[in-house]
Amino acid sequence: MADDAECNIKVLCRFRPLNKSEINRGDKFIPIFQGEDTVIFGGKSYVFDQVFPTNTTQEQVYNTCAKQIVRDVLAGYNGTIFAYGQTSSGKTHTMEINLSVHEDKNRVPYVKGCTERFVTSPEEVMDVIDEGKANRHVAVTNMNEHSSRSHSIFLINIKQEHVEMEQKLSGKLYLVDLAGSEKVSKTGAEGAVLDEAKNINKSLSALGNVISALAEGTKSHVPYRDSKMTRILQDSLGGNCRTTMFICCSPSSYNDLETKSTLMFGQRAK
Ligand code: ADP
Ligand code: MG
Repeated sequence: MADDAECNIKVLCRFRPLNKSEINRGDKFIPIFQGEDTVIFGGKSYVFDQVFPTNTTQEQVYNTCAKQIVRDVLAGYNGTIFAYGQTSSGKTHTMEINLSVHEDKNRVPYVKGCTERFVTSPEEVMDVIDEGKANRHVAVTNMNEHSSRSHSIFLINIKQEHVEMEQKLSGKLYLVDLAGSEKVSKTGAEGAVLDEAKNINKSLSALGNVISALAEGTKSHVPYRDSKMTRILQDSLGGNCRTTMFICCSPSSYNDLETKSTLMFGQRAK
């Protein structure tokens, strides 16, 4: 039963390999990996619960962290897995998953367009995820790729009932693929897209504040109410929930300022 009062927050850092355009441009490969939990970047060392170097497979990532969270959710805990990083740093690749948050007239937050599906197999779960992906909004910016300017929140609700033993167990898992954390100036955004980018930066810093308050321990005030996203996730962040944050990074010298700011964001959560 989920009676463990300890808050469990893990911060994991993953570097993707250099991509073709970075190699063609002659970018330098900056990170130096040390042991299982340390990366040296631009002369400064950053320690996380685990650091995944560029050659880490999806299976290794799953086995070292996601597997345990999935087990805990099946045992009745709530959990959230985040992916944080600039556009094209490997967030979606790491989450492989998938809405905008509104408030109803009683100020209760809800996810617009969120649908609930009954599934009976892992294949059906993947089908729903693919459908969600297709619905995601993207805007074209200067960041080479389609930059996601929305957070993607995917919720898996697991309810189990053991009829003979009259036992009920429920747990939920949020998979949150955050919007790109890049600085507004680099994306060349204007007008409505610029306003949106500012809102994204605000909600990311509110999330950082919540995670760092949770990491500090029980005594500090946790500012859940500062953003819609943290209000939605409140019952799956802190308390006896399982929280994992993936800090996704580009290894390229071209992105070094963004990568440093991403690494700093992750350090705050430790
Ligand atoms: P983001 O969601 O952060 O914008 P993506 O996950 O879409 O970034 O990754 C950008 C590109 O880099 C994709 O083509 C993806 O397949 C590739 N990529 C990301 N991470 C890795 C990795 N660890 N190994 C190999 N390719 C990766
Ligand atoms: Mg993405």
